[in-house]
Amino acid sequence: MNRNSAPDVKRDLNQHDLILITGAGGFIGGALARYFHDLGYARIRGVDRKPLPEWYQRVPGVECLSIDLREKENAIRAVEDAVEVYNLAADMGGMGFIENFRVECLRSVLINTHVIEAAWRAGARRYFFSSSACAYNTDLQRDPNVRALKESDAYPAMSERGYGWEKLISEMFCQEYWAERGLETHIARFHNIYGPNGTWFGGREKAPAAICRKVIEALESGSRTIDIWGNGSQTRSFCFIDDCVLGIDQIMHCEKLIATPVNLGSSELISINDLVTMVEQIAGVTLKRTYDLDAPKGVAGRNSDNTFIEGILGWEPRTPLRTGMERTYAWIAQQYADRKAGKRVVRD
Ligand code: NAD
Repeated sequence: MNRNSAPDVKRDLNQHDLILITGAGGFIGGALARYFHDLGYARIRGVDRKPLPEWYQRVPGVECLSIDLREKENAIRAVEDAVEVYNLAADMGGMGFIENFRVECLRSVLINTHVIEAAWRAGARRYFFSSSACAYNTDLQRDPNVRALKESDAYPAMSERGYGWEKLISEMFCQEYWAERGLETHIARFHNIYGPNGTWFGGREKAPAAICRKVIEALESGSRTIDIWGNGSQTRSFCFIDDCVLGIDQIMHCEKLIATPVNLGSSELISINDLVTMVEQIAGVTLKRTYDLDAPKGVAGRNSDNTFIEGILGWEPRTPLRTGMERTYAWIAQQYADRKAGKRVVRD
């Protein structure tokens, strides 16, 4: 990552203060652990329920605990001595996962209730919660020609079933722990984060990674055909992982953003059909397209309105989608080749 692009963040954090990152065996948590490590923070604890060999990134010097945060005792163990808590653990995946495993998504509320309570009891200075654009009212997302979602659009509430409602109630915990108990909380609503070191096969991958993999498979198998979920007219914005970790850092350390949900996403809108075209161009191929109209496809359109974050931070995610997708495609192509050669690769 180009550290020069990092805005000046006032962290009031000593180099030896303990930073806890939950979900550190996953995509964003792993990237965040590497980010703070590279900034020189010496005490970082990563927690994830996955066994250590399955963590996407193992950052040198980061303490790694493999425990399930749905258990209260484990949450208490995880936050011991933590000055800052970044809670990124959740049972989640792309549309294929969140439309078919709503109970699992809802049960992440156990993680969020135990970790915030434990953080407050342990006297943590700050608590970050990774919410989602899925918390927004789905009635506002029925048209691919979307009006971008602004923070107030979450209420009146009609979130994505399961996953979205869980995020909304966990946001409310953050707001009330601040209002009633004085725990400083910060909440970002992520909009489709993508990039290297994310899930790219196995059923939990999201559209950018799935499309890269399908293009590579079409080339490798010689089928020259790609199967698209839905009719491809669905629109989304996608935020590159480097922007995501920069955003988390700034949001967590902004006094004007205490207990105040804020979008963390790109405002560059694209249809799934156009995203396929972009990946085809990166790969230098044109494929025949088939459409699976019964596959999970989520809302018709969704974009991030960045007026609020830009107004507060003077910053918004700016990596062009084409740049981020080139890096993602290259990484997945390498993973694909490694898997073929029998080497260990990243997945869920
Ligand atoms: P991820 O699946 O790669 O990482 C989440 C990690 O949490 C996984 O490694 C998983 O093993 C771990 N986990 C799940 N249940 C756990 C438990 N009971 N105890 C301990 N660890 C547990 O997902 P990600 O993309 O890195 O997402 C991180 C956070 O950001 C999640 O809260 C997710 O809901 C949120 N989010 C992500 C996106 C996105 O586009 N990636 C969008 C919106 C919100």
